[in-house]
Amino acid sequence: MTQLAPPRKTYDVCIVGSGAGGGMAAYALTKAGAEVILLEAGGPWYGSRDGKMLIPNYASPRRGAATKLRPFGEFDACDGGWEIEGEPYTVATGSRFLWWRARMLGGRTNHWGRISLRFGPDDFKRKSLDGIGDDWPIGYEDIAPYFDRVDRLVGIYGSKEGIRNEPDGIFHPPPAPRCYELLVKKASDKLKITCIPARRSVITQPLNGRPACHYCGQCDRGCTTRSNFSSPDVFIAPAQATGKLTLLTNAMVREVVVGPDGKATGVSYVNRLTGEEVQVRARVVVLAASALESSRILLNSKTPKFPQGLANSSGTVGKYITDTTGTDVAGYIPAMENHVTHNEDGAGGMHLYMPWWLDNKKLDFPRGYHIEVWGGIRAPGAGFMGGIQRYPSGGGYGKQLKEDYRRYYGATIGLSGRGEMIPNDDSYAEIDPNVVDRFGIPVLRFHWKWTDYELNQVRHMQQTFRALIAEMGGQTFSPMPTKEQDYAIATGGQIIHELGGTRMGSDPKTSVVNENCQAHDVKNLFVADGGPFVSQADKNPTWTIMALAWRTSDYIADQMKKRAL
Ligand SMILES: Cc1cc2nc3c(=O)[nH]c(=O)nc-3n(C[C@H](O)[C@H](O)[C@H](O)COP(=O)(O)OP(=O)(O)OC[C@H]3O[C@@H](n4cnc5c(N)ncnc54)[C@H](O)[C@@H]3O)c2cc1C
Ligand code: SF4
Repeated sequence: MTQLAPPRKTYDVCIVGSGAGGGMAAYALTKAGAEVILLEAGGPWYGSRDGKMLIPNYASPRRGAATKLRPFGEFDACDGGWEIEGEPYTVATGSRFLWWRARMLGGRTNHWGRISLRFGPDDFKRKSLDGIGDDWPIGYEDIAPYFDRVDRLVGIYGSKEGIRNEPDGIFHPPPAPRCYELLVKKASDKLKITCIPARRSVITQPLNGRPACHYCGQCDRGCTTRSNFSSPDVFIAPAQATGKLTLLTNAMVREVVVGPDGKATGVSYVNRLTGEEVQVRARVVVLAASALESSRILLNSKTPKFPQGLANSSGTVGKYITDTTGTDVAGYIPAMENHVTHNEDGAGGMHLYMPWWLDNKKLDFPRGYHIEVWGGIRAPGAGFMGGIQRYPSGGGYGKQLKEDYRRYYGATIGLSGRGEMIPNDDSYAEIDPNVVDRFGIPVLRFHWKWTDYELNQVRHMQQTFRALIAEMGGQTFSPMPTKEQDYAIATGGQIIHELGGTRMGSDPKTSVVNENCQAHDVKNLFVADGGPFVSQADKNPTWTIMALAWRTSDYIADQMKKRAL
């Protein structure tokens, strides 16, 4: 149900989007005493209430297979997908790009992988180190206290390793490696690839009234015991408990509204249920609609004073966008055949992780990647194992088929590379002049290009993963991809770590926001998602989005107290 905002009320802060960034800002600002209104395009959803954690796939005639609204499976905790009916985006001729969008309270935090990595000291200063890209105007030391706060509030498992660019956090004990992960660890040690316990926002000890994980392995469905992180259960519910939060769901923001003095006065949104156009008034506006959607809102906020969109005097809104590079290799490991059946569910994601371990000076690409590990036995669903015919003697009918499933299930190990893309001038988003969505809001058009930096990095991933699978005595399911096949690099956007578009900088001519994520052009306008990121890093971005959003919120609260906004 959409709640209607009290008419004519002026809130202290209006936040757009309730995912990692927006949820964090709502939590921090309400706790600081601000009257906050949070606008979310999707409907209400709480994993603790709505998650389908313990429903077996066989209970459904679909056996858990994907639906249009749930492309990652029937019980997956995210409404949204690569395509949303009535809400298109376009891709320029010659480019390929995919854009995953959530449409629900909490956004993608309801089903994300919960791999929770701090950007390290080098990630903020890459240009100084290798001359490519740009430095952030802040350093690790500026954000470190906020990483600590996020660790304490949200909870994370991991281990202290003392690796320079993989800063340790305040960790709960990590779960033990599963059987197949022990094999990966052995092979990694042999090949001198660093392999450590994973870092994920799942609590293995009680925290802030939330019980420890009971290892059901279903994190992507939403956790009914709140033992993993999702924005609705960990940020928004406590923010509501302060009595300071007004939550408007099904509110699709069209633009930021600006007064004659050039300051933001609030936002206008379309009520998705009724089509009604409504305005909300606030002293401060925080955009956290996800990196690219926040660019879209700014580009669509045109006025005579801001003809190329709001906060865009630099012309860089929608520019410097990146996604993580990615490629996968899976292998069949004969040593894992017919293994003793045992419970491998674990903490709903990987228990091991391989951070970047090499020196780029000896390689033909800058920047690094980390390796994610998958495999084992989970409750099977539709399409599990990806095709039994790929295994030796696999396939057929009847008894033989059943025996093959028993023999091979759990004998596959997969490795996924997740690496750093460097922003380039050919990868950007702009408003498509010819297409609007079902609300009449102009849509984004994407331009995308991988350069040799990314392609050479992905070739290295492929070679490394094949070496690891060979070391485990396994065989891969596919041959080494060629240069003509771009070494099987994932399509831009496909890894769903898109960042940039409102990047941070000290110079208003080349950046959109300053070091406090405050628009250079509009002092009461802030961005609290991945938009301000200057570099991608070889880390998944969400822990850094949340730490940065908390820092931004503290700055807003401080400036409001000083009446400086
Ligand atoms: C399957 C999957 C796995 C992932 N795994 C990891 C991982 O392991 N580690 C990691 O670090 N990251 C991971 N990510 C990425 C992570 O989910 C994002 O980095 C993070 O959610 C970004 O937070 P956000 O607040 O910017 O955006 P979101 O979480 O997407 O939230 C944005 C919200 O804004 C709302 N919104 C959008 N437009 C409007 C509008 N115009 N008006 C009002 N509301 C609007 C949306 O409905 C949404 O709820 C994963 C993502 C996916 C999809
Ligand atoms: S594995 Fe743990 S955190 Fe994940 S859904 Fe199950 S109980 Fe919750």
